[in-house]
Amino acid sequence: MATTIAQKEDLLRNLPQSGGACLMYVDGAFTLASDGGTRKLINPANGEVSAVVAEGVKEDVERAIRGAREAFDNGPWGSTPALERAKLLFKLADKIDEHFTELSRLETLNNGKPVRETEYDVTDAANCFRYYAGLATKPHGQTFDVPAPSQTFVVREPIGVCGQIIPWNYPLLMAAWKLAPALAAGNVCVLKPSELTPLTALRLATLIEEVGFPKNVVQIVLGAGPVVGQHLAESHLVDKIAFTGGTKTGRTIMQAATGNLKKVTLELGGKSPNVVFADADFDTAVDYALFGIFANAGQVCSAGSRLIVEESLHDKLVAKVIERARNIRVGDGFDPNTEMGPIISRAHQEKVESYVALGKQEGATLACGGGRLAGELGEKGNFVMPTIFTNTRRDMRIVQEEIFGPVLVVQTFKDEAEAIALANDTVYGLAGAVFTTDIAKAHRCIRKLRAGITWINTYHPTYNEAPWGGYKQSGIGRELGTYGYDSYTEVKQINVNLDVVPSGWFSE
Ligand code: NDP
Repeated sequence: MATTIAQKEDLLRNLPQSGGACLMYVDGAFTLASDGGTRKLINPANGEVSAVVAEGVKEDVERAIRGAREAFDNGPWGSTPALERAKLLFKLADKIDEHFTELSRLETLNNGKPVRETEYDVTDAANCFRYYAGLATKPHGQTFDVPAPSQTFVVREPIGVCGQIIPWNYPLLMAAWKLAPALAAGNVCVLKPSELTPLTALRLATLIEEVGFPKNVVQIVLGAGPVVGQHLAESHLVDKIAFTGGTKTGRTIMQAATGNLKKVTLELGGKSPNVVFADADFDTAVDYALFGIFANAGQVCSAGSRLIVEESLHDKLVAKVIERARNIRVGDGFDPNTEMGPIISRAHQEKVESYVALGKQEGATLACGGGRLAGELGEKGNFVMPTIFTNTRRDMRIVQEEIFGPVLVVQTFKDEAEAIALANDTVYGLAGAVFTTDIAKAHRCIRKLRAGITWINTYHPTYNEAPWGGYKQSGIGRELGTYGYDSYTEVKQINVNLDVVPSGWFSE
């Protein structure tokens, strides 16, 4: 079932618009860009214009930042008790659930991913708000037994104005990951979605307004990353910048943030290893090899993009993975039969395809896929078929660099030491998995992986309760869980003198 215009208009109905453009949420109102600029969003599944949105410029983000500063420094939010913040977050979670079908379809329209994936994302986003609503009222301090008559303790306080820049691969979920902990901890937020996928964040803004967050506690500002995002990272009125996206952009943001030494958390890319030993449960290993790389068409920071297989199992495992990869149903995310959707944009599709060409040039064997989807859909949309390279070498660029598409590279190892050496042999350290039925080997290997998110005998499950982030060039800091909450707080030490007499350090 292809997306019809009628459906599309229906999905955009709840987004505030002016002159046919969806509006951003700045300074307590839905508004056009100050210069009236707009941008067309392209449906990745068919190349058609899916919506027109306001395209903010520096003046717009500057206005948002000033509003946020005022809201944090002088607004009611600072004295809103944790229980009230929690209630608002719980209400927002309920609103997301209430609009589950609409939000998931809007995400599919904008991002292209299959409805079964966007439904999962919407539920996860609601639960993220719920998790942090609960955490807001839980104990956060510590007391210390110090060698003096002093009551010494710490409290956690909000950092202040948080700039949050999110990517296009999980638009609503990434908004939840950023907003929920920040708001639970009492911060105010200026969130910038990717210019490619702002629609669900804009719908979220209407729900935020509906549940009654005070003015300028949350603003959603639109516009190009190098303009609006860059200014958020540079502004001295912003206290923290949180970013999810590519490593190159992460580096630029970190440099931009040095002016006022703002707090920085970065969740960046990866080239994550999926290590399969010969004694692994075969069907489970095959299944997760596919899920690890082809979920969301490989556009996942933690994708298991390197399948590292014990030599004796290689032929059997790879043959099965290829057979099943060929069966993956690629198509429009609105088609209930679709298992893998399109690549986000034509430009990104071409980038993925350039890596396929590079792999061939480098001498790897293209064992599966590599091309576009055949037929009319393939001509209009940005579809890359599930692709697998075998006979790779560890120094190849397709083995070392993040492709961020449905491209799997296979490596082989002889023993445990070689498996670990290969697994750790990139500049990244986001995620990784080990498949084996030997429990001691599984634990030994996982402890040796230089990565922040790891799995044994599974790939990809992500929990709001557990920390998310990378080692090495995969980022700085952690999101989710109590770690995510802490990253939106300052720690204040308070010492109360219990013996109020002069110290007598200096003579009278
Ligand atoms: P980017 O990292 O450039 O984009 C992510 C976000 O950063 C977007 O909101 C973007 O805005 C914004 N941005 C871009 N440039 C700047 C800047 N100078 N200052 C502040 N914000 C900025 O990702 P791309 O879409 O360009 O993809 C490039 C590569 O990044 C991919 O091929 C992939 O390897 C990786 N990537 C990793 C992701 C992850 O989850 N770890 C997610 C997305 C990409 P806008 O889009 O509006 O320009």
